[in-house]
Amino acid sequence: MNLTSIAWELDRLRWAPTAVLDQVVARDGLCMWVLADEPSWADEDMTDRELAARMCAGCSVRDECLELELRTAGDDTVGVWGGLSADDRRELHPYWLRRGDRAERGPRS
Ligand code: SF4
Repeated sequence: MNLTSIAWELDRLRWAPTAVLDQVVARDGLCMWVLADEPSWADEDMTDRELAARMCAGCSVRDECLELELRTAGDDTVGVWGGLSADDRRELHPYWLRRGDRAERGPRS
């Protein structure tokens, strides 16, 4: 996983308001509608990384979902969002923070 590259790709969403990202993910997220009606797609023995790879493959708002989760949960993230496991997002978080300003984000600590 190239963390710098992933963080760089999210820069295109830098100035998208968080409320808009939230709406887009809720509207178009694959897991919000399609997969919710198919209980058999998930296997209880899957790791979160495997679940992310399966669940988020083909989701059209994967970047928006990842950007949203990094903004709203940051280092406290849990579960599978944006095609990544929580461990992978926590590893990505400092790289993402170093990319600079975001809509509605106050000064970085
Ligand atoms: S990227 Fe994954 S977690 Fe996010 S909306 Fe799409 S399917 Fe759901």
